Amino acid sequence: SDTDADTTTDADALRTPIVAVLGHVDHGKTTLLDRIRGSAVQEGEAGAITQHIGATAVPLETVSEMAGALVDPDDFDLPGLLFIDTPGHHSFSTLRARGGALADIAVLVVDVNDGFQPQTEEAIDILRRTGTPFVVAANKVDTTPGWNPQEGEPIQRSLEAQSDRAESRLNENLYELIGDLSDEGFSADFYWRVQDFQGNIGIVPLSAMTGEGVPDLLTVLMGLSQRFLKSEMSIDVAGPGRGTVLEVKEERGFGATLDAVLYDGVIRTGDTIVVGGQYDPIVTEVRALLQPRPNAEMRTEKRFEKVPEVAAAAGVKIAAPDLDEAMAGAPVRVVRDQTEEEVVAEVREELAEIEVETAED
Ligand code: GDP
Repeated sequence: SDTDADTTTDADALRTPIVAVLGHVDHGKTTLLDRIRGSAVQEGEAGAITQHIGATAVPLETVSEMAGALVDPDDFDLPGLLFIDTPGHHSFSTLRARGGALADIAVLVVDVNDGFQPQTEEAIDILRRTGTPFVVAANKVDTTPGWNPQEGEPIQRSLEAQSDRAESRLNENLYELIGDLSDEGFSADFYWRVQDFQGNIGIVPLSAMTGEGVPDLLTVLMGLSQRFLKSEMSIDVAGPGRGTVLEVKEERGFGATLDAVLYDGVIRTGDTIVVGGQYDPIVTEVRALLQPRPNAEMRTEKRFEKVPEVAAAAGVKIAAPDLDEAMAGAPVRVVRDQTEEEVVAEVREELAEIEVETAED
């Protein structure tokens, strides 16, 4: 409409990079995500992190509060980090965007004692294939014999509190990890020794359990994003929303809904959207956009609140008619600057690409 055109002119903004967490089973992906959510809630004022549908937003101010001296917020203009809540490379490889990965950056979690395992290698292959920048979280440092845990501290502070013996035990494991990465063709080092993050993988020793090293991880992710992703983070905040379906879910009172991550533009109630379906793209109209209501009772209908619009990057639940045949992993697009037919054709093309790749797997 005309009003839309008026608001699109000066609207370039930087969006939040989308972060995925990958790694072998039991190496600590879920615990790490919980820790990031939990410690961000503790550090920040209420509402400092926002629970989205399928994702958690950690704003820059919260990263800098957690990271203390490690982060000077003036060095950054990206608004923070958006973590996809479903860890693992299955979700990583099915969640695509523009023919690439939905996630802009990844954390590869490796248990320091266990080292590289089959799913670690699979994850590495996928990260390599998609060209996704990543850091390695060398997790469970607290299980090093003789470890003296330093709850929530940056890793250097924690290392200062360790005996020489504990520190050298940890180092042995970390050097083994550097060796494993080198066998995979990646030059890697402790993140604080990495000068060129483009050619080298930074290793962040941490404990998802005690939180030591987690401030460092957030800092490194912000730094990497700022340096290497900034140009890709530029979005037209009033442009047509583009996203990827995480899940199709039946919700009482709404019927079939989409849980989606929006990576570009804005989506509004009443927008016409095109969604990838099992047979053909679905054209429908957004009835409601829903976000989790903080601290809501999980089994009532009141666990969501309606919002008039959502801007990238964000997770959102979309209620609209005719979504029963929508597909997880498929694109969702707002029809705004193009005709409906053009958008349908593009969604159909993207779906064909996804099918070819699934067939190749
Ligand atoms: P996922 O399968 O990769 O998501 O792994 P989980 O997060 O479920 O963790 C697997 C197990 O390792 C759980 O029992 C966790 O409590 C434990 N764990 C995860 N991170 C740490 C850590 O940093 N230190 C210790 N001691 N245990 C951890």
